[in-house]
Amino acid sequence: MEKGKMVIERKPAAWLTALILLAIFTCAGCAKVDEQAPYIAHEFMLDTDIIINIEDSRAPQISTAVFQRIAQIEKKMTLFSQDSEIAVLNAQAGQKAVEVSADTHYVLTKAIAMSKITRGAFDPTIGPLVKLWDVGSGLARVPGDAEIQKALALVDYRSLQINPDSDQLHTVFLPRLGQVVDLGGIAKGYSGDEAKRILLEHGVRQGIINLGGNVMAFGHKKDGNPWRVGIQNPLAPRGTYLGIVYVSDKAVVTSGGYERYFIKNGRRYHHIIDPTTGYPANNGLISVTVVADRGIEADALSTGVYVLGLTEGKQLIDSMDGVEAIFITNERKVYTTAGLKDCFQLTDGDFSYE
Ligand code: AMP
Ligand code: MG
Repeated sequence: MEKGKMVIERKPAAWLTALILLAIFTCAGCAKVDEQAPYIAHEFMLDTDIIINIEDSRAPQISTAVFQRIAQIEKKMTLFSQDSEIAVLNAQAGQKAVEVSADTHYVLTKAIAMSKITRGAFDPTIGPLVKLWDVGSGLARVPGDAEIQKALALVDYRSLQINPDSDQLHTVFLPRLGQVVDLGGIAKGYSGDEAKRILLEHGVRQGIINLGGNVMAFGHKKDGNPWRVGIQNPLAPRGTYLGIVYVSDKAVVTSGGYERYFIKNGRRYHHIIDPTTGYPANNGLISVTVVADRGIEADALSTGVYVLGLTEGKQLIDSMDGVEAIFITNERKVYTTAGLKDCFQLTDGDFSYE
């Protein structure tokens, strides 16, 4: 994912900051001295710090079950191993269809649906460009225009062939040699949904799962109030918030160019690639937070809307039922969709509403 010879913002030790801030933002009940502190577990998975915050007498065992499920998903979808289902799909591009699990089939099907909704701004076949830029590996460089055009020609979500779910066999085919699927923009959201499902199966009715800023706030706080989720200030160190969103039973997912990037000749190049240009998206936004019922949708939408920019992105979110968003522009202007009017509080005076 991200590399950079010059400047890299990485996430190590972020778990500690996240842990502390999560405690501040999600545990207003802590003011009551007799209240049990919620159980907090963390693991590094999906290339990020994952934190589970629940209250249950069996919390350690339940958290282990959640981490095992996330590990399963990672094993199927990662690009960091040659044996994952996605790696095998990519290796067989232009040659033959491959069989994948129901998990991978579902995420790919959903990814294509989200590509259609975002008119290709979110595109899981973005892989050749992600590989070319290689933001996050320590070897990132600015590719030449010819290389970008060559990679760009392989990116097209409409070319990915997925057999319908009704068929017994889940097969998928990338028709052109060199095509690469990358689920980095959606897999964490799916993992958040699955984490919530497992917690509910174990009888846990409320909690927070934070997958590197991809937050699943499920149920509400024990005192009946909504969870308070801090929204990262994209211009300040990790863990500095510009506002708070109050939500119950929602996924809150942020995408931004500040998350992974490198700087070359004074220019910043980040990890979210615009499938129409082949370059890091540059449509006036520095971050987008999407609030939706399901993590998988919030995750794909936040990546896609970041690419679309404010005008098109806001139009899209406005047109969707049950989905809200917060947009932060290069000029530090903040826009929210109507449904967040009373649920978002801007706390940083450096930013202002338009
Ligand atoms: P996120 O942090 O959810 O916005 O996802 C960013 C990650 O998604 C990147 O690190 C890439 O792996 C992948 N990605 C980059 N650009 C796109 C895009 N336009 N559509 C889909 N996935 C993308
Ligand atoms: Mg995403």
